[in-house]
Amino acid sequence: MTPQARLRRPCTYRLAPGADTCVRTQRDEAGGAHIYAHQTCAEARRVAPLYLFIDESRAGERT
Ligand SMILES: [Zn+2]
Repeated sequence: MTPQARLRRPCTYRLAPGADTCVRTQRDEAGGAHIYAHQTCAEARRVAPLYLFIDESRAGERT
């Protein structure tokens, strides 16, 4: 995934780009969307993230 894709991932709490964790998924009947947030926003609301995204800026450095 590219850094540009990361910037398009919005935070559901602040409506800001760059969310790095998924906090909720909709039921398939509701569209099945994944709801993203910043880790800090999720922690502030005591929401346990479902999964995290790795730091994509470093993903290509592995050998
Ligand atoms: Zn946020």
